[in-house]
Amino acid sequence: MAEKNTGKNTGKKSGQDNLDKELEQWISDFYKNGGKVTIDVNGKKTTSAPRTTGGKTNRKSGPGAKNESFGAKNRTAAAKNRNMDTRSKKADEGKPVGKPSAQPKRNTKNPCPISHKCGGCQLLHLPYEKQLKQKQQLMEELLKGICPVHPITGMENPWHYRNKVHAVFDHDKFGNPISGVYEAKSHRVVPVEKCLIEDEKADEIIGTIRGMLKSFKIRTYDEDSGYGLLRHVLIRRGFASGQIMVVLVTASPVFPSKNHFVKALLEKHPEITTIVQNVNDRATSMVLGDREHVLYGKGYIEDTLCGRTFRISSKSFYQINPVQTEKLYRKAMKEAGLTGTETVIDAYCGIGTIGMIAAADAGKVIGVELNQDAVRDAVSNAKANRVENIRFYCNDAGRFMTEMADAGEHADVVFMDPPRSGSTEEFMRAVRKLGPSRVVYISCGPQTLAIDLKFFRTLGYRAVGAWPFDMFPGTEEHVETVVVMTYGGVKKK
Ligand code: SAH
Repeated sequence: MAEKNTGKNTGKKSGQDNLDKELEQWISDFYKNGGKVTIDVNGKKTTSAPRTTGGKTNRKSGPGAKNESFGAKNRTAAAKNRNMDTRSKKADEGKPVGKPSAQPKRNTKNPCPISHKCGGCQLLHLPYEKQLKQKQQLMEELLKGICPVHPITGMENPWHYRNKVHAVFDHDKFGNPISGVYEAKSHRVVPVEKCLIEDEKADEIIGTIRGMLKSFKIRTYDEDSGYGLLRHVLIRRGFASGQIMVVLVTASPVFPSKNHFVKALLEKHPEITTIVQNVNDRATSMVLGDREHVLYGKGYIEDTLCGRTFRISSKSFYQINPVQTEKLYRKAMKEAGLTGTETVIDAYCGIGTIGMIAAADAGKVIGVELNQDAVRDAVSNAKANRVENIRFYCNDAGRFMTEMADAGEHADVVFMDPPRSGSTEEFMRAVRKLGPSRVVYISCGPQTLAIDLKFFRTLGYRAVGAWPFDMFPGTEEHVETVVVMTYGGVKKK
């Protein structure tokens, strides 16, 4: 395929040469600038996170590319890996990494009373229409000269959409348990009772747990002394299934009267379908530790997306806004234009969502993902859905693709859904060698998307259109985007 299209480009060679030079210059400036890109939206400068030179991301050196545990203390350090929740979950998924400060100014119109302390939602003071407009402008600015940006898809109801809720536990100066989020750039916990973007049932359960601690003599963990048991509570709720998982993150495996605690919690919330104890005994900013004990139920939840059922364990990445995710995936599928015969790669596949949806219209699908737990979920998801034309591999996506390319393999369509840090040059070069006619890039990091699209262009892949989706209403600038690229810019039907 690559050779075929090269011919088509020869007429435009000098234009292409200029473009390549321009891009080379751009990329070299980008790396000279420490891997930062500064954009200007309505006079407001935003600087993206630095990437390491040579196109390699710092994904592995940050907290937990492999470890699905969530970085907690440093809101920005973990922000690029979507597998990692932080204590500041909203900030993590809702702001560009490396931005100097996400602390919103006090705003009287802001409907959230703790917004200025929490820092998770920077746009709540704006009517939803304006939030969308701002995000649209951001995408247009970033992708200027790269491809047309279609109108952003917003939510009908932009409240309480987060189906994964995380609370850090602490105590106030009187020793009363509190739960909430870390204040931006500090270790102080801002108590949160209700959050406008979190699932209301999840907040209710967290409140119940907080209220039960005293009678069960469960102390919240104290970071400084290392004393106390309960560190965090993580709740995931299946949007379609209604199944609810409660993860109690404890500093020690010893959880006195845990059976009574579980029983009492279930009496108050019979809707909970599974309770897991996660042991995190390290002095770490990661939320989740490696060891888990299932205290009740199956230890995971299931949810349905685009007609497929997915198993989701505590550490696997799963989109937190299922309403928007369905729209996003449907668009990605449409743009992939599968006809039933193609060899498809689902890179950065997580629990296999995209690949499994694509499998119905493809010859075969190959999924690659770094996180072991996610791959385990993916394999069991394929079995449960009786999808037989899909295989999953646990590996670094760049390395895996390079090995495939070196072995002379070919792919027709590549879906790629990297973490916010974007992809790597190694990965993109391997895509070029595998020669797909179409690459569907699903991005959660607008800045890195722009960088990667520019690099792809130097390899001959041109973006033909971008479709942004507002995944995190109320939060700043974070937009999930589907971009379709074709080799040589020729849209194949
Ligand atoms: N496509 C999935 C998951 C996307 S999130 C979905 O839609 O649900 C990005 C995924 O990339 C995470 O599951 C993360 O674990 C994985 N990941 C991060 N770095 C990776 C790498 N170098 N190689 C392969 N997978 C990686």
